[in-house]
Amino acid sequence: MSSTTQEITPLFQLDGKVAILTGASKGIGAAMARGLAEFGAKVVISSRKQEAVDTVAEELKSQGLEAIGIACHVGEAAQLQQLVDKTIEAFGRIDIIINNAATNPIFATLDQSDPAVFDKIMHVNVRAPFLLCNYAYPHLCKQGGSIINISSVEGMKPSTGLGLYSSSKSALIALTQSQAKEWGKDGIRSNVICPGLIKTKFSAALWQNEAILKHIESQLPAARMGRPNEMAGLAVFLASDAASYCTGSVFTADGGYLIAG
Ligand code: NAP
Repeated sequence: MSSTTQEITPLFQLDGKVAILTGASKGIGAAMARGLAEFGAKVVISSRKQEAVDTVAEELKSQGLEAIGIACHVGEAAQLQQLVDKTIEAFGRIDIIINNAATNPIFATLDQSDPAVFDKIMHVNVRAPFLLCNYAYPHLCKQGGSIINISSVEGMKPSTGLGLYSSSKSALIALTQSQAKEWGKDGIRSNVICPGLIKTKFSAALWQNEAILKHIESQLPAARMGRPNEMAGLAVFLASDAASYCTGSVFTADGGYLIAG
């Protein structure tokens, strides 16, 4: 078939595919889950709280989409293994993993940062995506798949006071590229999305401070913060066959943050 006769629209469809999303009870993860489900995927909504994931799954189901909620604290290896096992029990396969849950408990310079906080950030932001993908790997291998790791513009351009968080997000980029290199032979793609400043609970300390918010908005080419649903299109694309030649790549959705100033 020549390149001009092949239809493009079907490449975006996710019918029959099963996606696990961590940190999907709200914010960016919830928006991405909705996006994948609207394009036909069966989505596994995961976060620490069963009630929270059930609420999101029920809402999607009430609109005719396919979803279940499975609670999982990504810092707990046994719970990550259970997330994989319960997904297989429910849906029989895994095609897409979105590692979205993350933590940032500190705003401090490196010299003022406790090593225990370093360990916590790396544990949740880097070790968890590493483990979840390893546990899912045998299942992804069966038909190939797409891993999407949610990093941040902080992983490319660190801000003062966010050094540990930025380091974890840079490590996640290298983890992604290593997955892409090692697992390409298995038909598995792995890519990174780096959001800019998105209005969620996670970033509340920034947007609730009017002076900081005004400064950020005055610097950004987009002149405003982003919304969680503005991250969903990239996730759908990367999860789908429309992105079949994209792997090991870093995609920003940042309102121009990296070119600002
Ligand atoms: P959010 O609205 O605060 O949502 C965070 C989600 O993660 C919630 O569903 C939360 O649910 C879950 N979660 C937190 N800790 C968890 C853990 N240990 N195990 C499992 N689930 C956990 O945050 P967000 O802004 O959407 O952030 C999502 C991702 O985008 C993160 O990786 C973040 O680093 C990245 N990001 C955000 C921004 C931004 O400006 N917002 C910018 C760049 C990158 P429970 O409380 O129920 O567990």
